[in-house]
Amino acid sequence: MKALLLEQKDKNTLAAVKEIDESSLPEGDVTVEVEYSSLNYKDALAITGKGKIIRQFPMVPGIDFAGRIRHSEDVRFHAGQEVLLTGWGVGENHWGGLAELARVKGDWLVPLPQGLDCRKSMIIGTAGFTAMLCVMALEDAAITPASGEILVTGASGGVGSTAVALLSALGYTVTAVSGRESMHPYLHHLGASTILDRSEFAAARPLEKQRWAGVIDTVGNEMLAAALAQTQYGGCVAACGLAGGFALPTTVMPFILRNVRLQGVDSVMTPSMRRLEAWRRLARDLPEAFFTDVATEITLSETPQHAQAIMENSAHGRILVKMK
Ligand code: NDP
Repeated sequence: MKALLLEQKDKNTLAAVKEIDESSLPEGDVTVEVEYSSLNYKDALAITGKGKIIRQFPMVPGIDFAGRIRHSEDVRFHAGQEVLLTGWGVGENHWGGLAELARVKGDWLVPLPQGLDCRKSMIIGTAGFTAMLCVMALEDAAITPASGEILVTGASGGVGSTAVALLSALGYTVTAVSGRESMHPYLHHLGASTILDRSEFAAARPLEKQRWAGVIDTVGNEMLAAALAQTQYGGCVAACGLAGGFALPTTVMPFILRNVRLQGVDSVMTPSMRRLEAWRRLARDLPEAFFTDVATEITLSETPQHAQAIMENSAHGRILVKMK
């Protein structure tokens, strides 16, 4: 089988497509012929070695994949069935989706939801799944389109693009934050009504003018602090990312004076019931145009250069990896 293999030499991560014997696959009760995987921010950190994602080498990266089951020892799944996987440490501490075959635990798999095929499910991928979890977090906080505007940060990235498209399709008014003026037409096309520059969100005061009913933040750091300071009374901020850093230079003021809710969102260990619900919603709520608007399709051998582009903030939308 062909796989992107990460090895370590002199503390540097080396990434190359190699031919690997199937017998090297890790333990697991289901073997999947991968049709599509995708490149997420975490994959880019792993492949470039810029983040300490991988601790055991050699490793096949790829935190998500979709494909057809070749063999299953799990009675819930059968050969020929289409499935997808995101998270659970796959592509981090268990060989992942950037390979022609993956062997995983049946517990980690999601049957392909009705309305999606393997390709579409990986255009969504971990990033889009996380965006849906963030939207559901706002809904859980009773934020509706009537509550007011929603801010999406890191908007031209994978999570951000999907969040803008989803919120807009659900009738919310979306303000997108981007550091790239060249992305404005793309973001308007996805459904953002207003676009603000990243630089406007540096060094916020503890409380600022109340602007957002809800926020989906993929950036962290000063961006998240500013978003909290601008969230209106009773609003909710769903925080899922750290593209701008993992710090949070904020105060308690938004929480104790404006009843603001800061809701963390993790996609890796999301329990199965919520996973199934999020995928059902993604299949139902994303407009058809989303799949052509956000996807760049690449081959396995092109993944290292695109991982580098993600790290340099020169990629946008979702990068889909076609395995064959
Ligand atoms: P992308 O690289 O696709 O998008 C990130 C976006 O953030 C960029 O497109 C850019 O948007 C913006 N950005 C990049 N660098 C900076 C910076 N230094 N300061 C401010 N903004 C910046 O990544 P994803 O969308 O895949 O992931 C976004 C974040 O969410 C990552 O931190 C990732 O680790 C996290 N994540 C978390 C998950 C979870 O389970 N909690 C799951 C998936 C992702 P623009 O150019 O428009 O400003």
